[in-house]
Amino acid sequence: MTRLPTGFAVLDRPKRWPRPHGGPRPEALEAPLDTLAGVGPTIRGRLAKLGLRTVGDLLLHAPFRHVATRKISELFGEGEVVIRARVGRVSVRKPRRALTIVEASVADDSGAIRATWFNQPWVADRLEPGMELRLVGSVRRGTFAVRSHETAVNGHAVELLPVYHAGEDVNPDKLRELVDAVLPQVRDLPDPLPAELRVARKLPLRGDAVLALHRPRLATDPEVGRRRLAFDELLLIQLGLARRRREREDEVAPALGAPGDLIDRYREALPFRLTDDQERAIRELDADLGRVVPMQRLLQGDVGSGKTVVALYALLRAVESGHQGALMAPTETLAEQHFLTVDEICRALGIPCALLTSSVGKRERRHAADASIVVGTHALIQAGVEWRDLAVVVVDEQHRFGVEQRSALAVGRSPHVLHMTATPIPRTLALTVYGDLAVSEISRPPAGRQPIVTSWVGAERSSDAYRRLTKHLEAGRQAYVVCPLVSESETIGARAAEQEADRLRRAELRGFRVGCMHGKLRPTERRELMAAFKAGELDVLVATTVIEVGVDVANATIMIVQEADRFGLAQLHQLRGRVGRGAEQSYCLLVSRPKQELTEAAGARLDALVRTTDGFELAEVDLELRGEGQLLGTRQAGLSDLRFTRLREDRPLLETARRDAEALVEYDGPLTDEVERLFAATATSSLA
Ligand code: ADP
Ligand code: MG
Repeated sequence: MTRLPTGFAVLDRPKRWPRPHGGPRPEALEAPLDTLAGVGPTIRGRLAKLGLRTVGDLLLHAPFRHVATRKISELFGEGEVVIRARVGRVSVRKPRRALTIVEASVADDSGAIRATWFNQPWVADRLEPGMELRLVGSVRRGTFAVRSHETAVNGHAVELLPVYHAGEDVNPDKLRELVDAVLPQVRDLPDPLPAELRVARKLPLRGDAVLALHRPRLATDPEVGRRRLAFDELLLIQLGLARRRREREDEVAPALGAPGDLIDRYREALPFRLTDDQERAIRELDADLGRVVPMQRLLQGDVGSGKTVVALYALLRAVESGHQGALMAPTETLAEQHFLTVDEICRALGIPCALLTSSVGKRERRHAADASIVVGTHALIQAGVEWRDLAVVVVDEQHRFGVEQRSALAVGRSPHVLHMTATPIPRTLALTVYGDLAVSEISRPPAGRQPIVTSWVGAERSSDAYRRLTKHLEAGRQAYVVCPLVSESETIGARAAEQEADRLRRAELRGFRVGCMHGKLRPTERRELMAAFKAGELDVLVATTVIEVGVDVANATIMIVQEADRFGLAQLHQLRGRVGRGAEQSYCLLVSRPKQELTEAAGARLDALVRTTDGFELAEVDLELRGEGQLLGTRQAGLSDLRFTRLREDRPLLETARRDAEALVEYDGPLTDEVERLFAATATSSLA
């Protein structure tokens, strides 16, 4: 038994509920979409691109907005609306050779208007006087320009027509039709929420919530439905976090003494003074390290804000008290990069430091794990690594690690853990997904750093961009050229990068020393390449997105991103962060097709990058452009599960979910299974 929230008594229920006869059949939701009429391999493929593979996916593919139904007499050119009208006279005009206009007079009981279809001559054959139509479109110059129409008007009057994200190659009406076809299956959606809780929180059944989103009858329906589904998302995450918290309650870490001589020497060895933000983060960290409760802190700061210095501080605190420290990075490149930085300082301080990645052999591994500070990848937590006495672990870009991985590291030893992320996350979001992690924030970059100047360059002027780049090289600076995102395949991407590097060596970058960095290089090759670039033996690094995170060369002052419109906002921001790391003014040139050829979202992304270098502001823009769930890219599976939550508005709902999760932490039922599934599925989750 556990604490009960007011108003409901979940735990009086049997621990496992039998499924009632004739109840939901969740397995039916697993049926692939090509079991539906009208879905063949082509459409199946297109739907899959939208993440729609099963009946269940389609049910949970909520419309992103609803279009209101209007009377014809009420039309006033407000954007897209729906009218229900009867067809009168139909005619076809061809004012120009390449333009066919189908026109029909349509009327409802309030009035009449001329409806027009552009370049869809076949429509004329399908329209018959007297026919009832539902028309989606907008008023333009006194006529109703039709975007789509349906002839089969459903029995009940639809006040709000759902509009779905259909991507570029699925017809939105087709999607609506498919949703219609699967809608009866809402009754197969299990409702994992204990009924008492659902009632206490005044939430509809899950199936009803889904229905309310797809087929609202009242203007308030979609919001009622969305809130229920958002509550589910938040509750699941909070439940997972609450359980993790519970598990950690018995863990003990070594309490570290006060900072001493080694830390003094470290501070003296740094070629700069720590910023106020860095000092504050260090104070917060010190307070944690002095306790036996293992630290679970998130260090958040934009790229280049100076987190690594703070991380190293934490590691040295462990060493100073006779323990070990480990720094874990998500990729080999990043681990090697960190190693170069950390090793340099460790040498100066006379502290043994080792690199441990999967390309390090068995025997050396054992040796490496004996060093005072070990930098590595997930190899750090693999079997065969025997730690002497690990007290502090720093996990860089922690969202890339799975929950399991992190707990494996903690087994039997419970070190203090500092999670670092350079992905700016709005505070509300951080609270949600990091749950009980304490948050330290470095919000201002080191003084003297000038904001990167970003320009958007049309592809036709890309030679200008290269001229600017070579000016920097001639002045002794270094540069990055980021290759287009040609494919998800690393092999193809690597080959394209090599070709591009070769081309540039012969053309725009002739006479300069050009290296090529991609994910297919062997670790030793990559290490040598990075070291050479850092030492100034290369002028330009042509690279795929492998340089996205962590590469730190202060002398690099200019970056060209080719076909920048193909990258995500967060990704471009990360890429850009590779320059502007020294006192010198730095530049980022985003080369893309002309603006008018880009999608609205791509244009908005590039505009935002030109306008600001503030990662938090960009995160907000990204939030608007892509919706909450995809804020940080698909990498963060934990976040992409937030499909219905709108964190800004749902703050009270989040608080409720947190409280309910506390009360439900020992509850065992359908909800438990969902939590387990979610937390197991998020192998790259940010759930701590
Ligand atoms: P992050 O890890 O947050 O991306 P880093 O710690 O790699 O940032 O720091 C970026 C650059 O700024 C590094 O070259 C680092 O040496 C430098 N730096 C860090 N802190 C300061 C500071 N207080 N003053 C000046 N330069 C700093
Ligand atoms: Mg860094």
